[in-house]
Amino acid sequence: AGLSISKVDKSLTFSDKINGYKNAYSASTTNEEIKKVRQDGGIVTALLEFLLKKKLVDAIVAVKHADDLWKPEPVIVDDVKDLYKTGGTKYANASTLAIIDQAKKYENIAVVGTPCMITALKKGSLYPGGLPFFKNIKYTIGLFCMEAFSFENVFNLTGEKFEKNLEEVTKMDISGGKFIISLKSGEVEKVPLKEVKSYARPNCHYCEDLTADYADISVGSIGSPSGWSSVITRSKQGHKIYKDAVKAGLIESKNLKDIKPGLGLLERIAGSKRKGCKPIILEKS
Ligand SMILES: Cc1cc2nc3c(=O)[nH]c(=O)nc-3n(C[C@H](O)[C@H](O)[C@H](O)COP(=O)(O)OP(=O)(O)OC[C@H]3O[C@@H](n4cnc5c(N)ncnc54)[C@H](O)[C@@H]3O)c2cc1C
Ligand code: SF4
Repeated sequence: AGLSISKVDKSLTFSDKINGYKNAYSASTTNEEIKKVRQDGGIVTALLEFLLKKKLVDAIVAVKHADDLWKPEPVIVDDVKDLYKTGGTKYANASTLAIIDQAKKYENIAVVGTPCMITALKKGSLYPGGLPFFKNIKYTIGLFCMEAFSFENVFNLTGEKFEKNLEEVTKMDISGGKFIISLKSGEVEKVPLKEVKSYARPNCHYCEDLTADYADISVGSIGSPSGWSSVITRSKQGHKIYKDAVKAGLIESKNLKDIKPGLGLLERIAGSKRKGCKPIILEKS
């Protein structure tokens, strides 16, 4: 049903791999402070800062490191000065949806999340069941996601595959078919992604959505060079804030079709996630 929602909107390009979209870009923040905390192009943080500063939202729901480093902690941020603490990817899944109701005092909010979270929010907004906390979600920013891990398994894979402690790790990344960690020592170590697949959450093996099909804007690294993000604008309001942030000089933006490996690689990997995921078989009761 969700895919057909985008199919009937003639203003969108429809792809069975990355769903409907207005346009796709490769982009990088121009803000030197965001560059220090970003995962890829810093586009998520740049857009959130734009939304808060322009008062298009009163608060955002994002994820920072908990006191246990690399443990994700969902947070509600209503002051730009706290935003940069949320930069960078934590590969353990976060319980973002559990704190959404705490943001119901705000009139307008933005939520950042993995594709499964964005789908849940979309369903909640289509079938609200009287719940007040979906109505104030004005923008969703979806992150591309191949898989996530429990915090316990982030700890385990760092120890078992890299023989390192989490405190030594300054950045984790999934790129070019490798799971990559950067260390305080300056070293960078990689293992093939297929070697860490068994650490992923079992639910993720059933997930077909790479690019957050139902977000207003989707952001990830696949398709763009290092230090840049691939950005898919989907809804009218998502496309507008992206273009406005580019116009304001906060983001350097190129068309993803003009970038190598670009949209072709993104569609290929998104298609293989859809085709390759395990089927969900519902048993009749
Ligand atoms: C679990 C996970 C798996 C991912 N897998 C892929 C992948 O396979 N391929 C790919 O191209 N991209 C993947 N991404 C997205 C990628 O890592 C970057 O988040 C994305 O490119 C945005 O980069 P940025 O520099 O614009 O973000 P930044 O400006 O650094 O902002 C990062 C944002 O991510 C949010 N965030 C961090 N961790 C989490 C979390 N656990 N749950 C929810 N939100 C979080 C923060 O709140 C912050 O707003 C994944 C992200 C996550 C969270
Ligand atoms: S792979 Fe799918 S189910 Fe797993 S965290 Fe990512 S979006 Fe959610």
